[in-house]
Amino acid sequence: MSVNEIKIADNLYIYSSSRYHNINSSAFLTREGVLIIDTMLFPDDMKRVRRLVKLREPKGIKDIINTHYHLDHTCGNAIFNDARIIALDLCRDMMKRHGKEILEEFAKVEPEIEGTEINLPNITFNKKANLFFKDEEFELISTPGHSPDSICVYWKNKEILFAGDTVIPVPYFYYGNREKLIKTLVDIIALKPKLIIQGHGMPIQEENIEKELNSKIKYLKKINEIVKESIETKLSKREIYRIPIDKCGIEKDPDPDDSFWTRDIHISNLARVYGDLK
Ligand SMILES: [Zn+2]
Repeated sequence: MSVNEIKIADNLYIYSSSRYHNINSSAFLTREGVLIIDTMLFPDDMKRVRRLVKLREPKGIKDIINTHYHLDHTCGNAIFNDARIIALDLCRDMMKRHGKEILEEFAKVEPEIEGTEINLPNITFNKKANLFFKDEEFELISTPGHSPDSICVYWKNKEILFAGDTVIPVPYFYYGNREKLIKTLVDIIALKPKLIIQGHGMPIQEENIEKELNSKIKYLKKINEIVKESIETKLSKREIYRIPIDKCGIEKDPDPDDSFWTRDIHISNLARVYGDLK
């Protein structure tokens, strides 16, 4: 089975797909219907999530939040035709502008998604919004860095942060902004959440949050310093792209089950810093 269900609380489940870098979709269950955060890459995986959720709450999925426009978080929107899909204004704009083109590119590697309809968010907001389910409050906050349209969802009652790709095993800023991501991560540490649900991979427990996020911040600073020094000492572009991740402050592989992806992210980050500094 490619989709795994993890129970976090009586009314909170995470679904994780091993078919695309343990991408997570979270489900908050209420008697009036279910709120889903992110809809995975493969519509078939999302159909599985929808079936599993329906076994827990027969009213099914009513609301969806997209944390950013990247296809691995939005492509599954296609299977929903009557849900409210909530995202930042910019997320809808970017999906509208780039969605089809990115999907065609992606379909070359993952033919299964070819022809999937880009289902755009139908409720948008700018910077901050609050979503209420009786007394339960979810704060949707703009957190640029991984991408310009990234948001985090903070479940205030339980102090749980759904971070999208703002927090993943190796921070990824190729399509975003390194400095903004550092600022966002500093803000998340100050928020002191009790649990972080990452966009990919396992949740981060309270006792590890500060340490793990500081290690990500250290990496984001170090990668810039090292590429800068390497350009000054006239290292070639090829040599720079080969700088290993442990030289940039991440000592052990944060995602050993998926170390090719970790490496790919790191190389893209090196390329981005190199491009910015050159
Ligand atoms: Zn992602």
